[in-house]
Amino acid sequence: MALKKIAIGGISTECSSYSPLYQKKDDFQSIQGQALLDLVDFPFSEFDIKPYPLFFNKSVPGGPIDREYFTQIKYQFIEDIHSLGDLDGVLLLMHGAMYVDGIEDPEGEWIASVRKEVGPKCIISVSFDLHGQMTNQIISNIDAFAAFKTAPHIDVKETYQRSSMMLCKALNENYRPYVLWSAIPVLVSGEMSSTFVEPCQSIYESLDLYNQESNILDCNLMIGYVWADTKRATASSIVTCTNEKSGAIICKSIANLYWDNRKKLNYGMKSGDIHSALEFCQDDFSIIADSGDNPTAGGVGDRADILKVILEADSKETLIAGIASKSAYDELKKGNQFTIGGTFGGGGPSLILTADSVYFQNQCAIVKVNKTTIVVTKLRRPFHKLKDFNDLKINLRSFQLLIVKSGYLSPDLENLSVPSFMVLSDGAVNQDLSSISNKQRNRNIYPFQDFYDFTPQASNGKSIVS
Ligand SMILES: [Zn+2]
Repeated sequence: MALKKIAIGGISTECSSYSPLYQKKDDFQSIQGQALLDLVDFPFSEFDIKPYPLFFNKSVPGGPIDREYFTQIKYQFIEDIHSLGDLDGVLLLMHGAMYVDGIEDPEGEWIASVRKEVGPKCIISVSFDLHGQMTNQIISNIDAFAAFKTAPHIDVKETYQRSSMMLCKALNENYRPYVLWSAIPVLVSGEMSSTFVEPCQSIYESLDLYNQESNILDCNLMIGYVWADTKRATASSIVTCTNEKSGAIICKSIANLYWDNRKKLNYGMKSGDIHSALEFCQDDFSIIADSGDNPTAGGVGDRADILKVILEADSKETLIAGIASKSAYDELKKGNQFTIGGTFGGGGPSLILTADSVYFQNQCAIVKVNKTTIVVTKLRRPFHKLKDFNDLKINLRSFQLLIVKSGYLSPDLENLSVPSFMVLSDGAVNQDLSSISNKQRNRNIYPFQDFYDFTPQASNGKSIVS
């Protein structure tokens, strides 16, 4: 039997429409060749399938993608697919929360262009982040869909494997699955919908039970992305199935389950303003998450609001990791005076400070000002892994308080099992949804509007399936 040919690739990022920082080519890391095959880590050869890795471009979430870059990279992807000749399948790795000025549905355009290039017979299987958006344009052009089922995301590899397996089975057993979706008019932050906290923990567990129903291949609940003011922003349920009628029933059940639990959605950790946080964090070692400026959700990561309060209090040994400022980094290379805060356009106070001491490591300046140690980063980046601190020769236990730019804590920081508090701070990913501008989103959508009538419908992207 001749080997079947599939292409692998895509683009993944999360774009806050409230961020002034446009993402361009240099913001993306391009994973290609063997590295891309290693990332997907699926034994395609066992299915007599030959995978052709193209590119998977990925960035730290940020602001809108520069339109010219988006157009160019989409064109490049289609050219690369074209160069492979006839394909039996495509495995697309996407996120679902791109924002491009003037393009309402960037993933939809990307996927529709792929479909146009590969033709109607080719099987397209897609993997998404559960913080992505769904549209009819996406659904009508794909044949299988799998999204993360954990947030924080610890099942990235498993998700790639689910979408790879559906692709391989469809190709080898010669059938074409159906993908159905139901929009759910709920839109909250990832912090309000962690899958390790109720009600989402139970809802996501129930997806595995739905997967066992006959004719059902893969059930998903998408939380959506709240910090882009777009018409397509919504939660959704998405089911890959072998029978549309069975899929529609399950799709609507998942939609109802999330809708019925919407009022229970809440932060999985203590939250409030910075003053409440400092009152709460009295123990030997505690963690505060500065959530409004969290770069992994699309925040700029340059704000100094929290730093200002900490310096004024100067009450305990505190580590702030980190604040992005290329200009402060450059100043510190020359002397101990530096200005920090809002230097990438993220807003907030600008502070003129004098370092007591400074050392440099991995494009970071580690600065001591009184009792506070600040990691000034040349580039936008998170500090969510213990390795991030080790790499800078920082011993966390020599501090009483750690402040990171984060929403819910990453698995590494959560595993420290110390008191933690999420500050609902200002920034491009402000958790106070009532304060963010809301011009484009559909009405009604909870919690932007409170309403009670919702009857889910299941669609195959072209028509309603009843
Ligand atoms: Zn996500």
